[in-house]
Amino acid sequence: MRPRPELDGLDRNPQTVVLQELDEASSPGFDFFRPTEHDIQAALLSQARRQLELVEAALRRLAANTYGYCVVCGRAINPERLSTLPYVLTCINCQQREEAHSRA
Ligand SMILES: [Zn+2]
Repeated sequence: MRPRPELDGLDRNPQTVVLQELDEASSPGFDFFRPTEHDIQAALLSQARRQLELVEAALRRLAANTYGYCVVCGRAINPERLSTLPYVLTCINCQQREEAHSRA
C-alpha cells in the first residue's frame, strides 16, 4: 500500500533507504548479511551523489527555462509535486508508466 508513489524513495530517511538497498544487494539465502560501516558510508555517498546530480540537473533546467516540465511528455508538472520534490524530472503520469514498465 503506497498512497503517494511519487514520493517513494526520495522522502524517506536516507539511512533507511540505504539499509534497504544494502539488504536487497545481499545474496538471497544469506541471512546474516550485516553491512559494515564502510558499506553504509559508500551507499550513503552514492545516494548523495545521485541527489546532487538531480539537483544540478534541476538547476540546469531552471537556467534553460525548462524547469517544471516533464522530460518525457513535456507537459507542466503539478506544482504540488514540484514543491514536494523540487528536482523531480517527470510528471506523475510518466513516472507511474515508467514504474509499471520496470515492474513488468
Ligand atoms: Zn510526463
